[in-house]
Amino acid sequence: MDLGTSGADIERVVVTHEQIQTRIAELARAIEKDYEGKELLVIGILKGAVMTMADFVRTLNRHVEMDWMAVSSYGSGTKSSGVVRILKDLDRDITNKHVLIIEDIVDTGLTLSWLKANLESRGTKTVQILTMLRKPDAAKVEVDVKYVGFDIPTEFVVGYGLDYNERYRNLDFIGVLAKHVYS
Ligand code: IMP
Repeated sequence: MDLGTSGADIERVVVTHEQIQTRIAELARAIEKDYEGKELLVIGILKGAVMTMADFVRTLNRHVEMDWMAVSSYGSGTKSSGVVRILKDLDRDITNKHVLIIEDIVDTGLTLSWLKANLESRGTKTVQILTMLRKPDAAKVEVDVKYVGFDIPTEFVVGYGLDYNERYRNLDFIGVLAKHVYS
């Protein structure tokens, strides 16, 4: 879905479809170099990272294995607490694997720091993170995010996998949700 269709629900476009595609290609070239000669397993975090995962792996000019996890952060309201529950675990053993987690957005970073530690505890060779978006608060948590698409302001955004009440995931760009949608 594009801006023309979603129009009044979007206050402002933060990242355009073209900017996303250009940045994904840049990240893919960097990752091809960094993992040269190594097997790579990419793990997409459902559901938000579906779009990033799909575009990223298609841009990657090398073999790659894929798996998915679904996690939920307990917490009051919209803030995650860092206590994470696995809703869908990996289909396979990841011992000795080079793992790249694909995430939609790092807000507080609590979910990702838990996830990274969890995957590292399974005997992986390396675990790195690629996120499409990062908010400034992420800097407060000790989580090393190696590949970042875009740093954005602390505002609630939707699109390109990110939802509000399960809607707007299918926008082909990322935008700030208009206040009238949730007030
Ligand atoms: P945190 O980094 O543990 O705070 O949580 C990150 C998760 O919160 C993401 O995977 C999203 O599901 C959700 N989230 C954070 N900020 C936004 C936003 O602006 N729009 C939609 N979802 C968000």
